[in-house]
Amino acid sequence: MSMSRNRSEHLVAFWLGVVFLAVAAASVSFARFDGGVAYVWGAAGLLLARLVTLPVRRWHLPLLWCGLACVLEVCLFGLGWRAVPALVPVLLLEPVLAALLLRAVLGKGLHIATVEGMAWFIAIAGVIAPLVSGVFAAEVVVVFSKAPYWSNLLHWFVAHALGAVLITPAAVAVGNPAGMARIRDWKRRDLLANIALLVVVAATAAYVFYQKTAPILFLPLLPMVLATVRGGRMAAITSVFIVGVIGAVLTAHGRGPINLMSGSTGEKTLLLQGFIACAALLVLPVASLLTQRRIIADRWRESEARYHTIADSLGDAIIDISADGTIRYASSAIAAMTDLPSDAVVGSNARDFVCKDDMAAVAKAYHQALETPGRAVIVQYRGARDDDDGRRWFEASIRAVTAQGESLGIVGSIRDISDRKSLELSLTREARLDPLTGLANRRAFLEQLEQRCGSITSGLPNPWTGSLAILDLDYFKRINDRYGHPAGDAVLQAVATEAMRFCRSHDLVARIGGEEFCVIFGGATMADAETAADRLRQAIRALRIPVDGGQTITVTASIGLAEIVPGTAAAEILKRADTALYEAKRQGRDRLRIAA
Ligand code: GH3
Ligand code: MG
Ligand code: MG
Repeated sequence: MSMSRNRSEHLVAFWLGVVFLAVAAASVSFARFDGGVAYVWGAAGLLLARLVTLPVRRWHLPLLWCGLACVLEVCLFGLGWRAVPALVPVLLLEPVLAALLLRAVLGKGLHIATVEGMAWFIAIAGVIAPLVSGVFAAEVVVVFSKAPYWSNLLHWFVAHALGAVLITPAAVAVGNPAGMARIRDWKRRDLLANIALLVVVAATAAYVFYQKTAPILFLPLLPMVLATVRGGRMAAITSVFIVGVIGAVLTAHGRGPINLMSGSTGEKTLLLQGFIACAALLVLPVASLLTQRRIIADRWRESEARYHTIADSLGDAIIDISADGTIRYASSAIAAMTDLPSDAVVGSNARDFVCKDDMAAVAKAYHQALETPGRAVIVQYRGARDDDDGRRWFEASIRAVTAQGESLGIVGSIRDISDRKSLELSLTREARLDPLTGLANRRAFLEQLEQRCGSITSGLPNPWTGSLAILDLDYFKRINDRYGHPAGDAVLQAVATEAMRFCRSHDLVARIGGEEFCVIFGGATMADAETAADRLRQAIRALRIPVDGGQTITVTASIGLAEIVPGTAAAEILKRADTALYEAKRQGRDRLRIAA
């Protein structure tokens, strides 16, 4: 233990002893009836408040100083020095017993913010501890005062119970820096309202305990509950205090409804004590309930704020959609996806952000998610609006939320996958395109041929008809050898451009090998295809392709043409066209041959 903590604990214990003595002296001097025990004994509550906040091994200092205070109090204001050896241990026993029991049940500290904690506190500090100490104390007091044993026990019990229940929470609150900070944080308006309500409590108590015509003891309870609901535990404790003090002083002066009853001072005291105890038992649990609710509300707000912070820090947008599609929440990332701030998105229908073509897919995923709660469904869709780079792609992972079997809607995350999608598209495009000429490559060509042959063999009502030409450049090797490979490339590009010029919308031109091209003439009769193919051959022959050094190259092509006959496999048609091409080559090149 450090020196400064040691010193400050001594100091706290010393001042606790001083206040303990003052409260004890006040209790026996101003609130003792019939020369016996005090009307309210708050000193024990002070010590209890200190003990519940300290570990047991550091109890000796407060016990020492409060013990000294007890000795002084008994000698100076109480039953005299002869009562010291018997009474002081009993006076200390009560808070020690209460603190030990509270610690055993609830752990360190005073947990009266919950209703359960308050119930334990009242049971232990307000019933068990004062009853146990009362059993011994009544024995002692009976020796020094004329009052009978049972009367002493009853008065001790009620006075000490009242003192502990009233003083302990207040003392813990005052000694707790966080609690005091909360009170200082009260807004001016709240503070004024709370003070005004406590003034109403005081005025009502003053009226009720001054008038002597009607037994309206219940009346102060109304403003007390109001003050408690408005101001919480501090207001509850303060209002019990105010009513207790005003009630005690006026009753002691012979005024108020308690003096309407005919009975001994002891009986009247007991009635007053009972009233204060009832008032405390009414407002303190209410205060605990309110505090508990405030803590839950604070925690809920905190977790909501934390959840929103997390959601807003993500690149993906988090959304919460009701069962009818209304967006209930959208994290801030939605702004970049919709070009609208997230609070403008909230309230609108999720449908408004989906492109018409993908609406069916999204609706399907939505219903699938609703049908399989707890399972994530992933759907890709395009946004409703175009960006500078075209339609934007999104991927949503959605999941239905249910509580007690009832659907609460859908939560999900949305990710902008435009970049990934355009990469994907370019990859598939690249996988199908010939980089040198920009024509379809062999793979794309074979796919198309299979597809078209497929629609023929499948016996559709309007089968696709057409023919296939394979075109091979003549003596191309020589061009490469003579002018170089780049010049060869330029020739290939020129031939590709020329072939494309001949293409109609339902034709397909592809480069299927080094200097081999294919043309699918869609929908043409064999005669038309033949004319077209031969015109292409002539056009290629007419090409004058410039190369470096001012020269121009010419090139010729041989073509094999085969009809796409219904019911024939793609490979078979390809083979027929190839045979025709071979024939053209064999017959001297620069010609067109038709498959037999
Ligand atoms: P023919 O077809 O008339 O019998 O004679 P050819 O000289 O064209 O014969 P072959 O088909 O054997 O030769 C094809 C040549 O095309 C071989 C290769 O060097 C060349 N070649 C293939 N791909 C490319 C290419 O991408 N660029 C260039 N510049 N040349 C290519
Ligand atoms: Mg060739
Ligand atoms: Mg060849």
